[in-house]
Order: sequence, then C-alpha cells, then structure tokens
Amino acid sequence: MGLTTINNEKVAIVGTPCHMIAASKMDKFSDILGESPIEIKIGLFCMENFSYSYMKKLLEENNVDIEDVKECRIEKNFLWFYLNEGKIFKIPIEKAKSCTRKNCNICMDFTSELSDISVGSVGSEEGWSTIIVRSNKGFELVKNAKNDEYIQTKPIEESGLKLIERLANKKKKENLSEIRKREMVGRPVIYRRQMPLTEYAEEVSNCQFKDLKSDVIDIGACVLCGACDLVCPEGVIRIEDRKPQIKGKCPEGCNLCYVTCPRTYIPNNIIDQESDKKPLGEYIKILSAKAPKLKGQDGGVATALLNYALSENLVDEVVVVDKSNSEAWKPVPKLTGNVADVINAAGTKYAACTIFTPLKELNKGNGGV
Ligand SMILES: Cc1cc2nc3c(=O)[nH]c(=O)nc-3n(C[C@H](O)[C@H](O)[C@H](O)COP(=O)(O)OP(=O)(O)OC[C@H]3O[C@@H](n4cnc5c(N)ncnc54)[C@H](O)[C@@H]3O)c2cc1C
Ligand code: SF4
Ligand code: SF4
Ligand code: SF4
Repeated sequence: MGLTTINNEKVAIVGTPCHMIAASKMDKFSDILGESPIEIKIGLFCMENFSYSYMKKLLEENNVDIEDVKECRIEKNFLWFYLNEGKIFKIPIEKAKSCTRKNCNICMDFTSELSDISVGSVGSEEGWSTIIVRSNKGFELVKNAKNDEYIQTKPIEESGLKLIERLANKKKKENLSEIRKREMVGRPVIYRRQMPLTEYAEEVSNCQFKDLKSDVIDIGACVLCGACDLVCPEGVIRIEDRKPQIKGKCPEGCNLCYVTCPRTYIPNNIIDQESDKKPLGEYIKILSAKAPKLKGQDGGVATALLNYALSENLVDEVVVVDKSNSEAWKPVPKLTGNVADVINAAGTKYAACTIFTPLKELNKGNGGV
C-alpha cells in the first residue's frame, strides 16, 4: 500500500516547479505515503501555464487550426506558433493572459527550486538550455552525462544569469501581490502558510478530500498534477472535467491526498518564506548546456539527461509528457523505459499535465490502485 512499488522501481520525472513541490512532499512524507519511487527530479523553468481548451479557442479566433502548429515557443514577450508551410502566428503574452491557468498567478517559483537539476530556456543562447544544478545527485548526473558526451556545457554569460534572476524576482513580486489580494477577499492561499513540521502535522491531521476540494480545487489553486490521484489508497479520485473529483468514501483517518498536494500547507522544512529572498533558490552551479545529438525545445538537455539516466540504469523508467494522438498539442503523461519514447516526447507542450498519474502503474498488485 502507498507509494512503495512492487519491485522497488526507481523513476526520473521531468516537470514544472509545482510538480517538483509535490514530488518533494512525497519524499519527505515517506513515513505515511510509503517510499517514493522518484529518484531524479528534473524541473523546468515556468513563468505560467495555459488552459488547453482556451488556447485552442484563442487560436481558432485568430483563424489558426491547432492541427497546423508544428512548434510553440515563448520568446521576447510573445507566444510564437510555427505553422505548416513556414507560416508563423505570434501573439503578445499579455493578450494570451486570458488563457493562463488561474493557479499560476499565485505561483512563486520560476526555476523549479526543489529539483535536482532545473532546465530552462532563458539565460542561454538559441539552441542551448540553461541548467541549474541543485543537489549532489544532480551534480553527479550532469558531470557523468557530460563525460559520456550526452551533453556539452559552457559557463553562462553574466547577462543571462541576471536575466533569469530578474524574471524570477518579477514572478515572485507580482504573484505575491496576487496572493495578498486573494487573502484579503477571503480566498486563502494555503500553500503560502508555511509552518514548523509539528504544527503542520496537527493542521492536516483531519483534512480529507472534501478539504482538498474547498481549500484548493474550488478556489482555482489546483495545478492538475495528479499527485492526489497517485497517493489515494482507496482509488476514489478521478481526474474528470479537468479537475480531481471523488467517486467513493474516504475512510476515517486518511489524509494522504491533502498531505501530498503541492497547493495545501507546506512545512517550512520543504519551503519557507525566506526563499522569497533568493530568486533562484539554493543551487550548486548554473551553466549553459546542449545535447549535440538531439533536437529539443531548447538544447534538448532534459531529454538527454533522462536518456542518460535510463541507459546507465540509474532509474528503471521515466515519466515524460508526450502529445496526444487524437488532440494536437494536448499533453499526455507517459511512463516509459524506452529511450525512443523519451526522444519523441521532447519539446514543450504549454498546458497542464497530470504527470503523477502514470506512476499508479508501478503500484498495481501492491494493494495500490
Ligand atoms: C508550461 C511550461 C512553461 C515554461 N515556461 C518557461 C519560461 O517561462 N522560461 C523558460 O526559460 N523556460 C520555460 N519552460 C521550459 C522550456 O520550455 C524547456 O522545457 C526547457 O528549456 C527544456 O528544454 P530542453 O530542450 O532541454 O528540453 P527537451 O529535451 O525538449 O525536453 C522537454 C521535456 O519537457 C517535458 N514537458 C513538455 N511539456 C510539459 C508539460 N506541460 N509539463 C511537464 N513537462 C513537460 C517533456 O516530457 C520533455 O521531457 C517552460 C516549460 C513548460 C512545460
Ligand atoms: S503553478 Fe503554473 S506557473 Fe507555477 S509551476 Fe505550475 S504550471 Fe508553472
Ligand atoms: S481516501 Fe479520501 S482522504 Fe484518503 S487519499 Fe483518498 S480521497 Fe484523500
Ligand atoms: S488537488 Fe490534486 S491534482 Fe490538484 S494540485 Fe492538488 S494534488 Fe495536484
């Protein structure tokens, strides 16, 4: 029962900063959740995310069929859509704000501060990614992947570093002001109410799905990560109509979905408000990097690091975000041990993705769901 997998499989995940918070909670609360299979966390930079259906509608209003989009990028304050026949449609980010997910307006993390390695676009020249190495595990992974020529690295330009810091500070400042506004009109932003672990344990002890619904889902704070679905021991959570719903009863004493959600209370040994003063969080070093043999969103580094982890058996499988076969650009999470799948999933899909849901596959036969 819980997160512990039948064969103790280990996985690497790639995802947005909010995904990294859920993964860190799984790690810290292994005493009640079971041992997390997540061995390596590759976090992406993320200023905002978009609603798939609103984005599709916005494109339609501008006579662009989403099926014609070959590549999507955010650059120089525009959202760029590269279309078939060399055509380009671009729209200022400000104009696309109507498609931004409301939960993103209270998000304080631009660079995935809780990952082993963060990967982003800004700060490095075209065709390269910026990487922030944060943990010893991340350091070893980057060092070994470089030695084995999966990636190449070079120092980041000072101007690039300043730009990342400026954007991270901007996100923290603007979203803190939104958090304050919501708090003032009685829409508490629970994940910002950090507290010591003992106080935290007391605060969440009686919280169940109904509280997750009122504190997170109904007030537009859900990031749609699927972590609640993964950890629920009763298998009663379904992600339907783009939100978690309950299809059964919660046994007394269970609070696992509430504990794991990245938008409920977070004890201050995971995040404390002092982190607002460090725009990029804690890190060991920042570099520019690229994977010479791969095409990715930027330097293909996320893909190369996942492939390296698989090839060297550092993990058994990885979770990537692929595109749906039936709906163009709709993100679909996939658990795979196959390098070709990882390469196919390269590139950014600008919409929320329930990356934790496929990890349920590892739990089947273990009393899990
Ligand atoms: C929603 C979103 C917003 C972003 N915003 C910024 C930004 O503002 N500034 C910036 O510098 N960088 C941003 N990025 C990161 C950037 O787009 C690249 O993902 C990053 O630079 C890595 O490039 P790469 O070539 O190394 O990755 P690749 O080798 O192309 O690999 C990309 C990986 O991202 C994963 N992925 C794709 N879509 C999603 C998704 N929706 N959710 C979770 N994982 C996904 C895929 O599984 C793939 O493994 C954002 C990424 C996302 C998903
Ligand atoms: S909440 Fe939104 S802005 Fe924050 S990390 Fe998640 S997707 Fe990105
Ligand atoms: S049983 Fe209920 S309280 Fe427990 S994890 Fe599932 S939905 Fe949440
Ligand atoms: S409610 Fe569930 S899907 Fe939404 S953010 Fe919390 S854990 Fe993720």
